[in-house]
Amino acid sequence: MSLTVLMNAGPWLSVPPPGYGGIENVIATLVPELRRLGVRVVLASVESSTLPVDERVSVFPDGQFAALQRPYNQVCGIAQAHLAGVVRELHARDDIDLVHDHVEAVGLATLAAMGPSGPPTLHTLHWDLAKHPALYGSLDGGERVRVNGVSASQLARAPQALREHSVGHVHLSTPLAVDADRRPRPEKGEHLLILGRINPGKGQDVGARLAHQVGFPLVLAGPVGPYHRPAELAAAGDEARQNPDVRFFLDEVAPHVDGDLVRWVGTVAGQERDDLLASARASLFPLRWEEPGGTAVVESLALGTPVVATARGCLPELIEHGRTGLLTADEEELGELVLAADLLDADECRRVAAQRFTPAVMAQRYVELYQRVRQLASAP
Ligand code: UDP
Repeated sequence: MSLTVLMNAGPWLSVPPPGYGGIENVIATLVPELRRLGVRVVLASVESSTLPVDERVSVFPDGQFAALQRPYNQVCGIAQAHLAGVVRELHARDDIDLVHDHVEAVGLATLAAMGPSGPPTLHTLHWDLAKHPALYGSLDGGERVRVNGVSASQLARAPQALREHSVGHVHLSTPLAVDADRRPRPEKGEHLLILGRINPGKGQDVGARLAHQVGFPLVLAGPVGPYHRPAELAAAGDEARQNPDVRFFLDEVAPHVDGDLVRWVGTVAGQERDDLLASARASLFPLRWEEPGGTAVVESLALGTPVVATARGCLPELIEHGRTGLLTADEEELGELVLAADLLDADECRRVAAQRFTPAVMAQRYVELYQRVRQLASAP
């Protein structure tokens, strides 16, 4: 296929990311598969990105992630400086068939403002936008600009202006969802796992109470605000409480963390993360927000660990109740479901992930959307 796509990753982190980096991870997973399908990829990112691509565009030498703590107008200023570089590049050449943009709000607005002189653009929404309608204002003049969600439920909750420009959704994928039948089966341990940022929306407090109720060990893995290790958080003292996720952890979760039945291990990565996930008896998602995409959900299935969750956000799209996990609308029922989860088949979880959530499936779907966006842009 002869298609040249400018993939706009933004200025925040290199691709692949050095550690945390949801959006940059999605791009690092997607791009090699697109190139395998014959798509030429021009990556707009920071100079330190190492992802193999056909060409690069960058304004900043390194990721500007630390600047995200600054006031919002300064954050926008950095995004705008990066986007000005992208727009300059687009004006200077005529071989870009489509821009695939991932820069929240500012990216879409800037590309829409190019009007008819801009290339067709697909902007991927990565967040739950229901509570932030103002972030995306009007898309007037942006007829060549379309959006996609990472789940149907995320799109259904998105502001009207975005839904009017939507071409559908593409579920997230994981490179772990390959060769599922050939990978050795890890021994299952006793523990339940909650993998994710410690945050009220992810419901670690519910999970911790539930572990004491059913008497199963629970491992909480993930950062608390900017703190990746228990020792780092302890050393930060009272100042750390300025962060709302730290306050949530200290007030609502830590009282249940006894270091024995319930443990917080901090951020896990690489093989340690995969082993912890693969050996868990179930992954818990006691959600209190509408999970938009759920990378950790598909990772859990790919590693053969069934999911027990509240049926919020994208969970009912990703999990087949009774096959790959157990879902309930009622938080009080999670305990019973955890007990029943041992009956679910780990191999079935891996097989479903290898059919539905591979990088190849995601790339194929994006190529279809690219074609649709180009068709819409060329329609009279
Ligand atoms: N993650 C990780 N180590 C941790 C906690 C989370 O590697 O200790 C990864 C997790 O495997 C997933 C990502 O962070 O790839 C979180 O993405 P998800 O969509 O589940 O949640 P988000 O944080 O974007 O709401």
